[in-house]
Amino acid sequence: MNEKSSNVLIVGSGIVGMATLVTLEKYAIKTSLLSHSKNIKNNSPDPRFYAITPGVKKWLEENGVCNFLSKDLMSPVNKILVYSNKENTSLSFDAYDAGMSELAFIINHDDLEKAFMNRISKISYDEIKIDGTESLNIEMDHVDLVKEKGQKYQFKLIIGADGSNSWVRSQSAIEFRDKTFNQTALVFNIKSAKAHQGCAYQKFMLDGILALLPIQTHEYSVVFSLNDNILDEYKKLNDASFLMKLKKELGETFGEIDLLSKRQYFPLSMKINESLISERVILIGDAAHQVHPLAGQGLNLGLRDVIELDELLNSYQEYHHDLGLKQFLKKYNRNRKTDILSLSYLTDQLSHIFSSQSRIVDFVVNLGLNKINQNYLIKKILIEKATH
Ligand SMILES: Cc1cc2nc3c(=O)[nH]c(=O)nc-3n(C[C@H](O)[C@H](O)[C@H](O)COP(=O)(O)OP(=O)(O)OC[C@H]3O[C@@H](n4cnc5c(N)ncnc54)[C@H](O)[C@@H]3O)c2cc1C
Repeated sequence: MNEKSSNVLIVGSGIVGMATLVTLEKYAIKTSLLSHSKNIKNNSPDPRFYAITPGVKKWLEENGVCNFLSKDLMSPVNKILVYSNKENTSLSFDAYDAGMSELAFIINHDDLEKAFMNRISKISYDEIKIDGTESLNIEMDHVDLVKEKGQKYQFKLIIGADGSNSWVRSQSAIEFRDKTFNQTALVFNIKSAKAHQGCAYQKFMLDGILALLPIQTHEYSVVFSLNDNILDEYKKLNDASFLMKLKKELGETFGEIDLLSKRQYFPLSMKINESLISERVILIGDAAHQVHPLAGQGLNLGLRDVIELDELLNSYQEYHHDLGLKQFLKKYNRNRKTDILSLSYLTDQLSHIFSSQSRIVDFVVNLGLNKINQNYLIKKILIEKATH
């Protein structure tokens, strides 16, 4: 082992796992990346588009990821319109009013993943393949990854970037709370007669939450978080009937619309971990937190975990020889707590409030939306929170 560097294992080669690898390499930390020996990803394109915040985009630029993304793959958002199905209740956020050039950038999952794959192809690291029969033995001064035939790999720190059903979390016995929203996200693309001019929309309805993210000039990626009690009804609709229902919901704002892709389904749940760390283990990305996609923040939150790690590695070089030391892990846990808990709480409460069928809640929400919309300062604070 290189004397100056720790020996770290990242479990999971999704976007957050690859971003972690880019960060560790910057500080010359010797790193291995663990992925499945069988490619468990299905080969059909991932329909998700992410609204990336300007703060996260800056990190992607500074760390060479944007070198592998052409400009036309990142669609800027300069306005967000939030409204409920009640009359006259809306809230708008404008980049210009907030003194910013953009509020977010929309990028497709596969394009961002490909850019990261290109970026890490320039990095030297060890790749370990597993088949699901391995275990982690956590000791005081190291962790062993033990393979079925007794083969052992030794590390100072394990970083679990292995998604919401994290194997690392279960191996390290970190407790978590799991909550289903009783909603499933339908993801698909539409084309509209009217150009979007960089405006994203979010509509809170009784059936669920509809989010439209602007991509090409006349195209949107749609995430429809639909209540499960009416999911079957929607699943049974053929494309023409589905489109008719959608047109009714969207009204005249978009002009004539057409479906551009098939509908894909993502069951939604929330996971809150008791801690982001345990003995010689860090959780990062969806392994550390899973939130409702209504605020478009899950991946941003995961990449902000990576940015925190980056800042800690920069500030505390004295831990580079052993990143598994408790003092280092505690700093990460403490610094990430507020961002994660506040966002988990916010998205949970918003989905709860807007799915309420109570007339009193409706009244308060409508009043609240209109009041916030009139208050320049509150809007500015909300924008600052949502774009870092
Ligand atoms: C409908 C929808 C819309 C969304 N929209 C947005 C948005 O607009 N903005 C936003 O910021 N976020 C959004 N999100 C959230 C975002 O998709 C996730 O937060 C993000 O993909 C998590 O990335 P990750 O790398 O942490 O986890 P994953 O993408 O789950 O990657 C985990 C990786 O670990 C691997 N793995 C798992 N187990 C093991 C193991 N035992 N050993 C080795 N490898 C393993 C997996 O194969 C995978 O490669 C959305 C989510 C949904 C469902």
